[in-house]
Amino acid sequence: MSTLKISGLRAAVSGKEILKGIDVEIKAGEVHAVMGPNGAGKSTLSHVVMGKPGYEVLGGSVTLDGTELLDLPTWERSQAGLFLAMQYPTEVPGVSLIDVLSSSLAAVEGDGDDLARRLRDEADRIGFDHQFLSRPLNVDLSGGEKKRNETVQLGILEPKFAVLDELDSGLDVDALRLVARRVEAATEESGLGVLVITHYSRLLSELKPDRVHVLAQGRFVASGGPELADELEVSGYGAYVDEGPETEPAATVAGDPFADPLA
Ligand code: ADP
Ligand code: MG
Repeated sequence: MSTLKISGLRAAVSGKEILKGIDVEIKAGEVHAVMGPNGAGKSTLSHVVMGKPGYEVLGGSVTLDGTELLDLPTWERSQAGLFLAMQYPTEVPGVSLIDVLSSSLAAVEGDGDDLARRLRDEADRIGFDHQFLSRPLNVDLSGGEKKRNETVQLGILEPKFAVLDELDSGLDVDALRLVARRVEAATEESGLGVLVITHYSRLLSELKPDRVHVLAQGRFVASGGPELADELEVSGYGAYVDEGPETEPAATVAGDPFADPLA
């Protein structure tokens, strides 16, 4: 059974330590959700795991079935079975989705036969119009269309582990349900392991997490079962973040939120 193991991962960007020791072990077929306030380092975690340039790894390891991924360039991490759906997918003018996928499949000696038909089938599973399949990758696609584009790639490439950074952002409720179901199906059909970053428990009603982690101040400050996501949606992150000016007003806003605070 495949395992993605992140141990003591510390990383900085622009000289500032963002990740201060992340530990998590994801087994094939498991879904781990990461939630946390804006700026906590969720996307940084996804980028460091995939090897996006611009980050300095200060310590720790990320292994896939015992192979150290941090020593590998991004394309070899991908070849090893890792997939990242970025929060802001990159636009690639002049390169179509089918070009990307046929090259990717060739690089893993995957089955490139009948790719056009499989692409259409994947698109149909998530209600994605076929016209987008021949467009340059992500160019002029809406936020939600880009997320569906990423989901189609996930379906075709069949990685061992996927990091999904706000895959739900920009998706309408119907698309959200279809995309979440598609990923959940991959966990059951091919044993995909998932690290899904999200702000909303709605995504997690279809893509059922085994564990939910709260990332704040560079660490997982709480971990629990699916019920933690529901609790967070109600109570927010106040209990997990440093006391500061941004967290104080909530306690004082009683009654009329538009009342003159100086009155
Ligand atoms: P999240 O995804 O949890 O909202 P990010 O991982 O995107 O947070 O960002 C974590 C912190 O790192 C933020 O304070 C952000 O401003 C900072 N950061 C991210 N990228 C850079 C960069 N290239 N240069 C400087 N700071 C950055
Ligand atoms: Mg982010």
